[in-house]
Amino acid sequence: MSAIESRVEFEHTTYKTLLESTRAIPWKIDWETMHFTYIGPQIEELLGWGPESWISAQDWADRIHAEDRDWAVNFCISQSKAGVDHEADYRALKKNGDYVWIRDVVHVVRRDDGTVESLIGFMFDISERKRTEEQLAALRRELEELSFKDSLTGIANRRRFDVMMESEWANACRNKQPLSLLLLDIDFFKQYNDRYGHLDGDQCLKRVARLITLAADRPRDFAARFGGEEFVVVLPDTNESEAYKIASRCRDLIASEHIQHEGSEIGKYVTVSIGLGTMVPECADEASAFIKLVDRRLYQAKRRGRNTIVND
Ligand code: GH3
Ligand code: MG
Ligand code: MG
Repeated sequence: MSAIESRVEFEHTTYKTLLESTRAIPWKIDWETMHFTYIGPQIEELLGWGPESWISAQDWADRIHAEDRDWAVNFCISQSKAGVDHEADYRALKKNGDYVWIRDVVHVVRRDDGTVESLIGFMFDISERKRTEEQLAALRRELEELSFKDSLTGIANRRRFDVMMESEWANACRNKQPLSLLLLDIDFFKQYNDRYGHLDGDQCLKRVARLITLAADRPRDFAARFGGEEFVVVLPDTNESEAYKIASRCRDLIASEHIQHEGSEIGKYVTVSIGLGTMVPECADEASAFIKLVDRRLYQAKRRGRNTIVND
């Protein structure tokens, strides 16, 4: 062997050792025949399919998860035809039936005349990263849900109400439909806490919240905790007489639940006072002014003896 030959041999062996000892899996496909001319032996450890079983690009496509296959194959072929280096993430089928997330990084080798000669690439195992991404996404969803939920009663919180009110307000303007709003406040709740303690007070709030959601149970009805012992119900596409019926149902359901309230000055059980408003908003109107109006009616309901509904 000449010096040059032995040097080439040395370099070949060195590169091969390097390639086959990395965690990334090298491969090469001949463009004309669409056959693998090489794939690193590490593929067997990762997927269970030995290097000899990777014959054509079809074997590659067949071992992609059905949900990722069309996208990954079409993308890689179109990029390769255009001579553009690219990368694709997909789930690869293991011999044992499991799937592994792979990132395939592809370099398109072109001849001097620009035509594609072959594709060479590396497959990386990115399952760990994907797992972390999925966990993060799940946490984000959970957090989003929590931040829109009242932690005590489990119904929507004030923040969620603000968002919902804005969008229903805009809807009502656009469609020139009536929007109704109820503000409910538990009567003599301070006395309830004083008499039964804060923990029983919390239980009472939970029961009242549940009864309100039962009374306003049409698909678009939306109940939230407005703050403290106050609740709010948004009733889209609802005129005043329908809204009054729903308000009455809230009041009656709560009163007939017979939640003992010895401290109440108007009876033996927990009751609520309700302010009610209905309007077809003009686009120049502010939702906050409407909420204030309904709040004034709630105050009126308190003045008129409580356990009552005021809508004027
Ligand atoms: P009114 O009939 O005029 O509405 O009288 P009220 O006693 O219900 O009203 P007030 O505003 O004086 O008292 C409200 C009470 O609600 C005081 C507060 O401690 C209680 N409260 C607010 N949030 C909570 C809560 O999360 N848990 C409990 N247990 N009590 C709460
Ligand atoms: Mg109050
Ligand atoms: Mg109150």
